[in-house]
Amino acid sequence: MTRSMIGPAETEAATAPRIGMLGGTFDPVHLGHLRSAVELYEHLALDRLHMIPAPQPPLRGRPQVAAEARLSLLEAGIGDTPGLYADGRELKRAGPSYSADTLAELRAEYGDDARLVMALGEDAFSRLADWHDPERLFALAHIVVIARPGYPIAQTQRLGELIGQREVADASALMQTPHGGLLRVTLPSRMAISATEIRRRLQQGESVRYLLPEAVERAAVARQLYQTNDYPTDGCQA
Ligand code: ATP
Repeated sequence: MTRSMIGPAETEAATAPRIGMLGGTFDPVHLGHLRSAVELYEHLALDRLHMIPAPQPPLRGRPQVAAEARLSLLEAGIGDTPGLYADGRELKRAGPSYSADTLAELRAEYGDDARLVMALGEDAFSRLADWHDPERLFALAHIVVIARPGYPIAQTQRLGELIGQREVADASALMQTPHGGLLRVTLPSRMAISATEIRRRLQQGESVRYLLPEAVERAAVARQLYQTNDYPTDGCQA
């Protein structure tokens, strides 16, 4: 297409920021999260990917480590990785960590034209219909589902109804609009790493080398995080 054939809407689409959000417990952050984040950033040509720890995710048990410590480990894990941002905004909000509220904040910050993407793994996506106000998620953002080894999607009728006709074939189709689409991606380095297995290994004194960044391992060991099953009551900071 020549420049003269590009209409105003397409010009806007080309210049609007591309922003991603990857929320999670990050208890602790691991290379499955971080490598997925980098590959997603490149695949969608994002300007920025916000990685956002939830103080208390609504649909799961209490995280093992305090939110401030999980954020600190996330910052250590991201280090100077271009485009990734450890975003502690949910720690400043009272009440449950609803992703729709976080997306609304990002939408307000980046504007109506921004291509806003909420990314999540297949396991989390399977439960999307149970999330708080799931239709609102699509009113605010696109949803990108990352294939995760060992977690095939269990698609319920409610999830099917929620998805409707939203699914698109590829990233460029998704980025034509600011929100409302669904894309499934299989990223190059699919990793069968889970925080549950890392917590188990740390408790048992087994090696976690190459499952998470060395900076995260060092910080977790130095601060004696994840050595027991107990939730820290002393405001443990990583
Ligand atoms: P846990 O084992 O404690 O449930 P987790 O490893 O699943 O933790 P979360 O913090 O719950 O990590 O995950 C945050 C988000 O990252 C979720 O959307 C999850 O599906 C996704 N995710 C986690 N691990 C991977 C992985 N190895 N590959 C792709 N996505 C992942």
